[in-house]
Amino acid sequence: MTIRSKRVLLFTSKLGYQTRSFEEAAEKLDTEIVYVTDRCHHLEDPWGDHAIAVHFESPDSAAYTVLETIRGREVNGILALGDRPAAAAANAARGLGLRYNHPSAVEACRNKARLREVFHASGLRTPWFKNLAVQPTPEPVLLGISFPCVLKPLSLSASQGVIRANNREEFVAATARLHRLLESAEILATREANLDRMIVEGYIPGREVAVEGLLTDGDLRILAIFDKPDPLEGPFFEETIYVTPSRLSESEQFAIERCAGDAARALGLSHGPIHAEFRINDDGVWPLEIAPRPIGGLCARALHFGSDEGTEFISLEELLLRHALNLDGRDWPREKAACGVMMIPVPTSGILARVEEEHPARESAGITELLITARLHDYIAAWPEGSSYLGFIFARGESAEHVEKFLRESHAKLRFHIVPRLPVEHPATGRQSGV
Ligand code: ADP
Repeated sequence: MTIRSKRVLLFTSKLGYQTRSFEEAAEKLDTEIVYVTDRCHHLEDPWGDHAIAVHFESPDSAAYTVLETIRGREVNGILALGDRPAAAAANAARGLGLRYNHPSAVEACRNKARLREVFHASGLRTPWFKNLAVQPTPEPVLLGISFPCVLKPLSLSASQGVIRANNREEFVAATARLHRLLESAEILATREANLDRMIVEGYIPGREVAVEGLLTDGDLRILAIFDKPDPLEGPFFEETIYVTPSRLSESEQFAIERCAGDAARALGLSHGPIHAEFRINDDGVWPLEIAPRPIGGLCARALHFGSDEGTEFISLEELLLRHALNLDGRDWPREKAACGVMMIPVPTSGILARVEEEHPARESAGITELLITARLHDYIAAWPEGSSYLGFIFARGESAEHVEKFLRESHAKLRFHIVPRLPVEHPATGRQSGV
């Protein structure tokens, strides 16, 4: 193995685009990446690079394994992709004396009820909320639940299982649906804590944005504010279009930046990337959630950074690596062009039989990249049961309006053929799926 001048620990359970992009950046920066992953017990040495195998569900023992394995070797920085890896990274960082978030700050971000408690206690705008068992079905009247409200599983992410209810009937139906989802083999296999609980909270009307930021010893730098131009009014909340720069007024953007800083401070997040979601309406800015990690894998491809005109842009992954290693370039701003990504929504659950018109959609004006990530002939679930998209479309342009238009035009050309799955009886539970 080549001897590199620096070493970074990268905690991740996913292999793919984002880790490849880190590899490229690491090569450029003469840095060795040591992966810490929970995938290794399935695949022997998946990257051929002696990754450290851990179980992310117990962050402190994962950290212990890392410290034991890495003993005697210098580590210069630490990064994590995803919420579970971030918790293990926070524990390891303490042991190694590296700058990163405190474990309790990272833990708080993983639990939607804890997030609400912290925001509320810090004076941030927070809807009413209740932390409830999903079963037996709670009785809204007795619990002081008013409508519209939103039901969210405590420990899932990517809007999976998030359902709006406008009245008691919808609330009862949503609870039953959530219960079925949380009892499914796929979800139980995650072994997340609190899989039998949900948070129910007041529905916050308004526009929604996503914020990408980078904390340095408690100071937050905003890398991008993404508008979400599609109305996210429920009953389900799958993401679609993200476009930056934001078209909100300067004062609204300033208010969002301030709220992002306040939310990070309230939680005690101090170092490294954050990804956060906010709603904004006449009452002000409402933090929905904040996570101590960068934007999910492929979406990061919409972001490029550079020092000034004419320089080659660097990826978000390279920016994060430079930041973790305290190298020049860690403070480069985002490029001036507008850019965006569409997470291609899943119109209906079923087997993805074929995708047509991919070529015209890819050649459509302003499109820089189009990737179909769902596998042909595999089952794909629509929200709220689903959590992965059909693919991603990327666009760049002069303005956010152009980028949004480019994304919609390209998407309109694509044809997805999704056919119903035949009901299958689970051999152990006897329960039917696909109906
Ligand atoms: P997850 O971690 O699963 O993404 P979030 O709390 O971010 O969960 O909720 C997912 C989406 O659901 C949000 O991006 C937003 O569109 C919608 N949502 C969540 N809570 C509320 C709320 N109280 N009012 C309105 N919309 C909400």
